[in-house]
Amino acid sequence: MILKHFTELQEFLLEPRNIVIIGHRNPDGDAIGSTLGLKHYLDKKGHTTQVLVPNEYPDFLHWIPGSETVKRFDRQNNQSVKALVKSDIVFLLDFNALHRVGTDMQRTLEEYENDFALIDHHQQPDDFMYMYSDTSMSSTCQMVYNFIEMMGDVALIDKNIATCLYTGIMTDTGSFRFRSTTSTTHRIIADLIDKGAENDRIHSNVHDANSYNRLLLLGQALSNMKVLPTYKTAFITLSEEEKRRFHYEKGDTEGVVNYALSLKGIVFAAIFIEDEEQSIVKISFRSKGTFSVNQFARKYFNGGGHDNAAGGKSDDTMENTIAKFKSLLPTYKQQLESSYEA
Ligand code: 5GP
Ligand code: MN
Repeated sequence: MILKHFTELQEFLLEPRNIVIIGHRNPDGDAIGSTLGLKHYLDKKGHTTQVLVPNEYPDFLHWIPGSETVKRFDRQNNQSVKALVKSDIVFLLDFNALHRVGTDMQRTLEEYENDFALIDHHQQPDDFMYMYSDTSMSSTCQMVYNFIEMMGDVALIDKNIATCLYTGIMTDTGSFRFRSTTSTTHRIIADLIDKGAENDRIHSNVHDANSYNRLLLLGQALSNMKVLPTYKTAFITLSEEEKRRFHYEKGDTEGVVNYALSLKGIVFAAIFIEDEEQSIVKISFRSKGTFSVNQFARKYFNGGGHDNAAGGKSDDTMENTIAKFKSLLPTYKQQLESSYEA
């Protein structure tokens, strides 16, 4: 755990400040939940805040309280830059390095003149003036709860804040099932329910928001799945053509990789998704047990993340990317075999 200059940050926040709060590119439930949860809290403390995200986020996150105030750097560029220029500090939430916001926004942030405050649970964070980094945490939302607690303000957590934080903890823990879910996570969740988070409604808002086409795309993904029993590995592909056929929208492929990991005996799962716009193949990796997909993604696919959930990308074709992936597996045969000794 790294906690850097927390007292100084606390003092800095004694006066009303202009604050920008940023989540990572392709924001997920934890990114949106943590940025908006922090926003509601800082607003209550008398600050002026603006949440910025690099690009669009899935429909099933748009119901989150405060979502209508979020600005997109790619679409609302002038307003975003203006907010940055007049801000006294920028909070970076749910990512560990500036490149995670994408090239354009990264360039702007690199010229930022005031200080950054990081709250994040990803491995190997870059250095910023103020830092709260803890890779053992289930989610950044859990850390925002802790942050508010360290500020002595748990009593300020209201229904809006509780709803935001509950959402991110829920999505980042796969509904409280991943190893990162501790008894403390559950205690915090219990407190958030006490403070007004309507758990049944939150689950339903996020998980029962499928479009018909999204389910058909899932069907296609599942029929594309390949299993490599020798390496306890399964992977899924989705081509640009398949995405088009089922009217792909942002967020439609979220969680699909977990179906590959749900196969009995599988400890390593991946999904490869063609992205014509960026001319890359975007990859998600998942594992069970000790096999670190963070290291794997970092070493071979220009990515990173957590030990059991990471992402990366390839500039090569789908075919070559899959060939490269398969060629790497023999090296890890032993690690994969012993990854999950149940
Ligand atoms: P997902 O596969 O759900 O997109 O991401 C899984 C985890 O890996 C998340 O914590 C996400 O922030 C991280 N991640 C996804 N893609 C990348 C990437 O390209 N680079 C890095 N460093 N992390 C990533
Ligand atoms: Mn997260």
